[in-house]
Amino acid sequence: MPDNKDLTATVAIEQMPIVTDYYVPLSQHIGKPAQPVVNVGDRVIEGQLIAEASAFVSANIHSPVCGEVAEIVKRKNAQGVAVDCIHIKSNGEQDKFTLPPLTDPTPEQIVERVREAGIVGMGGAGFPTAVKLQPQDPVDTLIINAAECEPYLNCDNRLMIERTEQFLAGVRLIAKAINVSNIYIGIEDNKPEAYAALLAQDGVIPDTKEALQSRKEGDIVVVLLKKKYPQGAEKTIIKACVGREVPIGGLPAAVGCIVDNVGTAYAVWDAVVNGTTLHKRLMTVSGRGIRNPKNIEVAIGTPLSQIVELCGGLTDDAVKLVSGGPMMGYSLINLDVATTKTDSGLLALTDKEASTVLPTPCINCGRCASVCPMRLMPMYIDFYTTVGDTENAVKYGALNCFECGTCAYVCPAKRPIVQSVRLTKIKAKEKK
Ligand code: SF4
Ligand code: SF4
Repeated sequence: MPDNKDLTATVAIEQMPIVTDYYVPLSQHIGKPAQPVVNVGDRVIEGQLIAEASAFVSANIHSPVCGEVAEIVKRKNAQGVAVDCIHIKSNGEQDKFTLPPLTDPTPEQIVERVREAGIVGMGGAGFPTAVKLQPQDPVDTLIINAAECEPYLNCDNRLMIERTEQFLAGVRLIAKAINVSNIYIGIEDNKPEAYAALLAQDGVIPDTKEALQSRKEGDIVVVLLKKKYPQGAEKTIIKACVGREVPIGGLPAAVGCIVDNVGTAYAVWDAVVNGTTLHKRLMTVSGRGIRNPKNIEVAIGTPLSQIVELCGGLTDDAVKLVSGGPMMGYSLINLDVATTKTDSGLLALTDKEASTVLPTPCINCGRCASVCPMRLMPMYIDFYTTVGDTENAVKYGALNCFECGTCAYVCPAKRPIVQSVRLTKIKAKEKK
């Protein structure tokens, strides 16, 4: 599978300029939507709390910009679901709210800061990080998922190259919060510059036999992984880094591990050291349908149309828009969608890059089952979903699927297997 990373692998991170309108979704994480704490007409400043977590599994939301709350309105997100959004009209001012910086914080202070700052898993899952940092099972290992195995995406790669020290300081803060000294970073071998940047830092060693023999307490071990999709799947990276197998249906903590993403570690550093709340993130804008592919730091709530404009607009042969990567991302009908804390990419693909072929009936070739990292039978999940039999789709493991998209990629009939899985998950949840 071509990784198409070359389009932005060497493109330095650029700041997205302030735009006029921001639509900040109240539901951009796993768990309950946040509750607004501002009213229409209120003036807000960048970084200020505008909606607070409404349950243990929920997350605070902060203003991306200085301006005025124009309305609270329903708008569709990238998945096509209408969610409440706080619409903020910017006023061009530069004030910024920050929490008090913490020096040498205790584990409890780190967890509390992560909660206050609204940090969630920025690799796509959006699980509130403060909850993850208080595991029910005992853990002894932290694994940072730096595989970034989705084709086209480079935001984690650029972050490790350009903000190496801050990222590693964030990794150490997470390790302190969960009280572990066994720390790994799993990175694919298509990121040589980031790999070298990490190993140039004190206390960071490669996973070679010689280096491991003289490993000191707290050293971070960087594991070079073969480029292979879906290397960045949680269970795959745990197996690759420490050889432990998470049971089907289990969480990483079941084998003593916590897995966090590169962007999340950086956000933890920024929140603890600078008091910055999570209201910006890095994003790769790429694909041959984008005139000037870039890696940009963008405020949460920025309309995708503005981001595409910054990147020179779409080429005439762009046929498909995707929020996220091409394997796990969501096809977009238009660019009238705002960025969230979990958006790592925005792609515009030409017909040479995207499949626009319509699905045909399954030919029972078995390819989907042979590539599934969860050892599922994707053809049956797709079949039972198509005939409306949710029970059997669940029986064939739809709820254990982590939507990597490998089955759909290899399917000669172009079956929309991931969409089937997502539909079954929604229906099973409704039934519950
Ligand atoms: S998306 Fe397909 S290949 Fe990936 S875990 Fe789910 S069923 Fe398996
Ligand atoms: S790869 Fe596609 S055609 Fe082949 S068995 Fe799976 S769903 Fe059917």
